[in-house]
Amino acid sequence: MNRTVARDHREVGSIDPAFFADVAEVVGAGQLLRDADVVAGYTSDWTGRFAGTSPAVVRPGSTEEVEALVTLCRRHGVALALQGGNTSLSGGTVALNGEVVCSLRRLTSLELDPASGQATVGGGVVLSDLQEAAETAGWAYGVDFASRGSATLGGSIATNAGGIRVLRYGDTRAQLLGVAAVFGTGQVVSHLGGLIKDNTGYHLPGLLCGSEGTLGVVTAARVRLVRRAPEQVVALLAFADAASAIEAALALRRQLTALSAVELFFEPGMALVCEHTGLANPFDRPHPAYLLVEASDDRDPMPDLSRAVDSLRAVSAVAVATDRARAAELWRYREAHPEAINHHGTPHKLDVSLPAATLGDFVDRVHAVVASVSSDAEVWLFGHAADGNVHVNVTGLASDNDSVDDAVFRLAAELGGSVSAEHGIGTAKRRWLHLNRTESEIAVFGRLKAALDPDGVLNPSVLLGG
Ligand SMILES: Cc1cc2nc3c(=O)[nH]c(=O)nc-3n(C[C@H](O)[C@H](O)[C@H](O)COP(=O)(O)OP(=O)(O)OC[C@H]3O[C@@H](n4cnc5c(N)ncnc54)[C@H](O)[C@@H]3O)c2cc1C
Repeated sequence: MNRTVARDHREVGSIDPAFFADVAEVVGAGQLLRDADVVAGYTSDWTGRFAGTSPAVVRPGSTEEVEALVTLCRRHGVALALQGGNTSLSGGTVALNGEVVCSLRRLTSLELDPASGQATVGGGVVLSDLQEAAETAGWAYGVDFASRGSATLGGSIATNAGGIRVLRYGDTRAQLLGVAAVFGTGQVVSHLGGLIKDNTGYHLPGLLCGSEGTLGVVTAARVRLVRRAPEQVVALLAFADAASAIEAALALRRQLTALSAVELFFEPGMALVCEHTGLANPFDRPHPAYLLVEASDDRDPMPDLSRAVDSLRAVSAVAVATDRARAAELWRYREAHPEAINHHGTPHKLDVSLPAATLGDFVDRVHAVVASVSSDAEVWLFGHAADGNVHVNVTGLASDNDSVDDAVFRLAAELGGSVSAEHGIGTAKRRWLHLNRTESEIAVFGRLKAALDPDGVLNPSVLLGG
């Protein structure tokens, strides 16, 4: 059941021109974009499934400018659709109700503290820039995923992004030591001291992380960095069926201390990726299921990885990379899935997670469940196997036909899983929030929203909005 937070926003055409004049004064005229063609570049999502309309894009460049912008929005009854790198896969950035788009990509300050292994990072810093800067200082940032070249730190905090190394370093929430943010009330908080132990009240980073921009705008964060493991091996394992691959993923997690990633995909996706990228299948014949395994350590993890792989039942074939170039090539078979699928057709992105005990059951049943609802749908499965996270991508459906979404989410919930492992609820999954959250929990969410964004200025179409 969707809950609508009280708000009374002006229709697009009725926004007081004085609002735009005041905004231009705050951010500078060049950072208020009103040209319809330019604005159109900010109103659809990465998949092309969701599109909205907006009268303008505002690009604040500091916490103070965000604070002034939120205050103006409250005064004029204007709502914002927050946007970082716009790589959301749940329609979280789309101005569905004529919101003014607030692009946060100009918040690009980045200060490393190599001694403490921490960094203070602007909300608009692109993830790959943070990763490269950390590496230059002898550290690494623990969160990584395929959209690293566009996704921002603020967006990854707002969605509590996961990615490929959650099993080793945890999700985005686990990296957060502090945030600077502007709440929907216009209040500014900044707690960036980086103390590892600091039990002084409510943990605002934890509250903002995963709140999908509905409570506050994250303008900066203090994040922990992780030790770089200098030695790395990547292997692609082939299996005769999904059950063997899933069993192997769970066994590797138990056996291999150096394990840093285990990614699952299947032959239809492999074939699509090969066709899209021009890569050849790394094996002499196709196999039904694949695991991409990465191990990293201070010393060469190859002997431990070989022992662990030898102990697995039912591995049909193995391709190994010990140098960076070959490792990147093996990773590409997995990471090119989203772009290859997008190229094939506009996907419905159903990012579910399952308990270890029912993951195999879900993978077994999902094709039949989809087929029972639509004979046109094509299903592509891949995901972060060790986290129980399967990305069910469905093409061949109209963007607004969510009958398959409904069937897949219900199957996940029936098997004890979540309708959103890591992409968030966004605007796409609001109607299924109740499958994972009780009435009482959703009521508490509404109370938090009402307290911290009483006028519904921030992302009113996301998570709780209708
Ligand atoms: C190819 C591809 C692969 C991906 N792989 C993964 C993956 O493995 N794991 C994963 O978790 N995600 C993945 N994603 C999804 C997406 O990249 C992440 O959710 C990412 O964290 C979004 O960052 P962004 O800057 O693009 O945020 P946006 O898409 O711009 O925004 C995401 C949400 O956060 C809000 N928001 C943005 N910036 C702020 C801010 N500063 N303050 C408050 N709210 C804000 C937006 O309103 C929106 O609701 C993938 C996406 C693509 C395209």
